[in-house]
Amino acid sequence: MGKIQSCMYVVCLLCSATLNILFVGRYVYVSGKWEVGWSRRAAEEAEAVAAVSCSGHGRAYLDGLVVDGSPVCECNTCFGGPDCSQFSASCVADVDSGDPLFLEPFWMQHAASSALLVAGWHRMSYSFHDHSLISKELEELIRKLHAIVGNANTTGRFIVFGAGSIQLLNAAVHALSPHNSSAPAKVVATIPFYPVYKSQTDFFRSVDFQFVGDTSLWKNTSDTTSNLIEFVTAPNNPDGKLNKAVLQGPNAKPIYDHAYYWPHFTPIPAPADEDLMIFTFSKLTGHAGSRFGWALIKDKDVYETMSNYMSLNVDGVSRDTQLRAFKLLKVVTRGRGREIFEFGYKTMKDRWEKLNRALLMSRRFSVQESSPQYCTFSGKVKRPSPAYAWLKCEKEEDKECYRVLKKAGIIGRNGTLFSANSSYVRLSLIKTQDDFDILLHQINKLVGEENGGKSSMRRMKSTVS
Ligand code: PMP
Repeated sequence: MGKIQSCMYVVCLLCSATLNILFVGRYVYVSGKWEVGWSRRAAEEAEAVAAVSCSGHGRAYLDGLVVDGSPVCECNTCFGGPDCSQFSASCVADVDSGDPLFLEPFWMQHAASSALLVAGWHRMSYSFHDHSLISKELEELIRKLHAIVGNANTTGRFIVFGAGSIQLLNAAVHALSPHNSSAPAKVVATIPFYPVYKSQTDFFRSVDFQFVGDTSLWKNTSDTTSNLIEFVTAPNNPDGKLNKAVLQGPNAKPIYDHAYYWPHFTPIPAPADEDLMIFTFSKLTGHAGSRFGWALIKDKDVYETMSNYMSLNVDGVSRDTQLRAFKLLKVVTRGRGREIFEFGYKTMKDRWEKLNRALLMSRRFSVQESSPQYCTFSGKVKRPSPAYAWLKCEKEEDKECYRVLKKAGIIGRNGTLFSANSSYVRLSLIKTQDDFDILLHQINKLVGEENGGKSSMRRMKSTVS
């Protein structure tokens, strides 16, 4: 009898295990009947929003406006109407911000592998199980990513996460500055430089550091007592150059900002191997809104000071963001990163070819030139395809270049904001395809006028719709 009972018990266990395998995640057994699982409704909600097409010129979001039970489309610039199908012919090309939406189509093609379902109880704690503020799995994935791409050496480096790389920039300045010294560290960058280096350093008004301008002014300084912290941006925002540190010597401490050191934008000649390197998700996957960046740090003291900054400042990067970064990096690293970097590079190359073609006949406007280089990631010689065009108005009468372009329906970012002169304007090439198409149209029109030609609105319509 005992034997029969234990046999029945084993059979029941097997049945229950089989049922669990069949139904887990989709059905739960509640009060004597099977009901749809907790994940199902969330998935249906996400799919319903994703199904709103917005004519390919906008998107609806789960946390967006809902009218009469339907999610409302958020339209791209120059498009309107309930389904974003109405193009406004009088609109201007807004290529001011560095919003990296050029990768949005990639993520739409990879909707299934990149989607996340987050349970209400996901990682509610302040810390991970090991009491740290960073996910060890994500850290490992970042090391794997750099090994695959070959753009940074992570061996012997500590990793600190930040809410975007913007937060890490100041954490690095803080960590490299002397504390309790009568002479603050002098912070410098090479013109043209990303304006946040100055504005953020000024904003924090620390007694430990001070922004003092262009690097070249401090190259031959006789002051050997002050620390010099140099921001080195490679590739550079705005002109795409692979900058190297200018200042040398025991008091010179570079912070390498590698936000754009990814195969979308540049050939990768060798892994970066500096003491302090900063990267961001924003220009890698395009998820600027997730606010995720990381620093690779050689020196233990610098690592500890930056970690302390993070815990005092925000108590670590949001665990939800870390989960999202983990999921997205799984997709990025699949197939050794070929898919995303091929997509990104192809998109950027295509935009550069079109822009260069449009400017070929112009003597009034020029953009930066760059030489091809061997890329260890792709195994090919490639031209850089930078995130921004650093456009120059060549004529004296056009030296207020931002105004010249604005009059022609193009809103760029004034060169003066990068501490350069006003004959330069930065044009962002990483926004949506609609933004780029409108920019190209306006450039074609401007160059056409310069050459006595006329533009055609018909051509514009065929490229944007
Ligand atoms: N560094 C550079 C050179 C940038 O261009 C940017 C963003 N435009 C950042 C850092 C900051 O990026 P995020 O905070 O989105 O990571």
